[in-house]
Amino acid sequence: MKNPPEISVVVPVFNEEANLAPLFQRLTNAMDQLDRPYEIIFTNDGSTDHSIELLRGFHAQRPKQVRVIDFNGNFGQHMAIIAAFEHVRGAIAVTLDADLQNPPEEIQKLIAKIDEGYDVVGGYRKKRKDVWWRKWASKIINVFREVATGIQMTDQGCMLRAYKRPIVDAIARSGERSTFIPALAHKFSAKPGEVEVVHEARAEGESKYSFYKLIRLNFDLVTGFTLLPLQLFTLFGFFVSGCSGLLVLILLYRRLFIGPEAEGLFTLFAILFFLISVTIVGIGLIGEYVGRSYQCVQSRPRYVTKEVLEDLS
Ligand code: UDP
Ligand code: MG
Repeated sequence: MKNPPEISVVVPVFNEEANLAPLFQRLTNAMDQLDRPYEIIFTNDGSTDHSIELLRGFHAQRPKQVRVIDFNGNFGQHMAIIAAFEHVRGAIAVTLDADLQNPPEEIQKLIAKIDEGYDVVGGYRKKRKDVWWRKWASKIINVFREVATGIQMTDQGCMLRAYKRPIVDAIARSGERSTFIPALAHKFSAKPGEVEVVHEARAEGESKYSFYKLIRLNFDLVTGFTLLPLQLFTLFGFFVSGCSGLLVLILLYRRLFIGPEAEGLFTLFAILFFLISVTIVGIGLIGEYVGRSYQCVQSRPRYVTKEVLEDLS
């Protein structure tokens, strides 16, 4: 391998045709200014618009610097990043979104922090430019994640991040199907750091995350990093068995010493319905874990690549 780059910028792309040209312009400008050898790895995550033609154009323009991994379908943002991580040649990898919400000009801040000796640097968005319900949902999940997983991060959702190569390789080797890269990186990191970054509104197009996809992603985050929900359920189960045992004793006492009674029937129903609903949630929760284990056991390829455009000569 001749002259491996020092920095690999990783960009997942899913139907971003309107953003790619300005992104490429600003990204190459910002990276050229850093004056360190770099490469940009785009993963086309099954776009159905003209994104791939634009990416081919970028590769033709700068064949030695631009590499394109073209997926056979849509495998999700985190898989797109993992695929690129498997191709990274630089000592540092930087991830950012293709929709210009993460300004490329901020990359230098992350690199400076990496140079200070941190092995993972996360950006956190001071003023997040997203719809209100997403900001609130993120805040709630942030608190829950911190309690459940013990992973301390100001802003887990910000994908403007830098990683040193050993972390990148560890993530690529993880073999997980449904994962959340910032949390995974944090797990492998010996010295994580954070910097504040600017966040902009999406330049063009709409968020690729529907409400349902966001819920799935957050489930990945929780189930992928902690068994606490299952353990809480077991504890709750013990608590309820204790209480119902007590109730049986009280009812037995009343039956023996007071005689037959019919009151309290509806209270019992209410308690019963409540417990049934809790059980259903519990089954669903176990299902989330079992389903993910099942996918791992099947060990199908995590993604399928149609083509890789690169010139490594
Ligand atoms: N993305 C992807 N595959 C997907 C969904 C999104 O590669 O299935 C990319 C998308 O093109 C963008 C980044 O991931 O570069 C973040 O997506 P988006 O901006 O829609 O997410 P949001 O900013 O709303 O969280
Ligand atoms: Mg976005």
